[in-house]
Amino acid sequence: LFDALADQAALAIERIQLVGDLDKAKLGAEADRLRSALLTSISHDLRTPLAAIMGAAGTLRDYFTALPEAGRRDLLLTVVDESERLNRFIANLLDMTRIESGATAPNLSTLALDEALGAVLRRAGKLLAQHRTEVSLPEGLPMLRLDPVLFEQVLFNLLDNAAKYAPAQSLIRITARTEGGQLILQIQDEGPGIPEADLERVFDIFYRVLKGDQVQAGTGLGLAICRGFITAMGGTITAQNRRDRSGAVFTLRLPVPVDARLPEVDE
Ligand code: ADP
Repeated sequence: LFDALADQAALAIERIQLVGDLDKAKLGAEADRLRSALLTSISHDLRTPLAAIMGAAGTLRDYFTALPEAGRRDLLLTVVDESERLNRFIANLLDMTRIESGATAPNLSTLALDEALGAVLRRAGKLLAQHRTEVSLPEGLPMLRLDPVLFEQVLFNLLDNAAKYAPAQSLIRITARTEGGQLILQIQDEGPGIPEADLERVFDIFYRVLKGDQVQAGTGLGLAICRGFITAMGGTITAQNRRDRSGAVFTLRLPVPVDARLPEVDE
């Protein structure tokens, strides 16, 4: 067990170095401010789960025989969950860099929106447990040609944000329609919304809206990944605020293959 943990930690450290290299390559000497914000952000996001892993592993090492079985299991679960979180963060960072540099092309296949959404909602179940979700898709939506892995990651990030920024028990709505040969998918929440001046900038890598002096917790990566992935698949993503009440709306415009378009669009 301890060897496995040590391996995990070594792997994490190796990856941290890798991320450091990526960061240098990406930004060069461009902006010191951005660079230090980026390093603070990355260090924070890597350190938080790593600290939890080290804490749990250390307790297990020092008190293994004294701990009741349930306690050991909890600590192990912490190690597993936090390793996964770390891994997801790094995978996201690497994915985005690869897509941005053109090293990875999306792997397009034909998929149905309701199925992709269903898969993501199942995956995001725990995350959305405190919120109400409502999905209303009209009948007969066209099939899409997207990379299912990238598309589901985008949906996941948007739902993750909605759950993170909108209060518990509030409603997250997912709606879709076709318009001008595109499928328009919207995710709306009932949170604070996004300051008008930041609606475009929230898609920048590591950008987070300032609240007072305090940058909100998070990675600033989620929306940059969404835009990178959606653009790579030939679509667009934009943010607005709701007009009827407070809340953010994220709008995805997705290309519909010509042979999958609704009859009325073709006529
Ligand atoms: P993160 O959420 O990890 O900080 P993102 O790239 O996902 O990074 O989001 C960038 C910023 O956009 C967030 O820090 C937050 O300020 C703002 N934001 C994103 N989604 C929402 C939302 N649904 N409601 C309000 N603000 C949001």
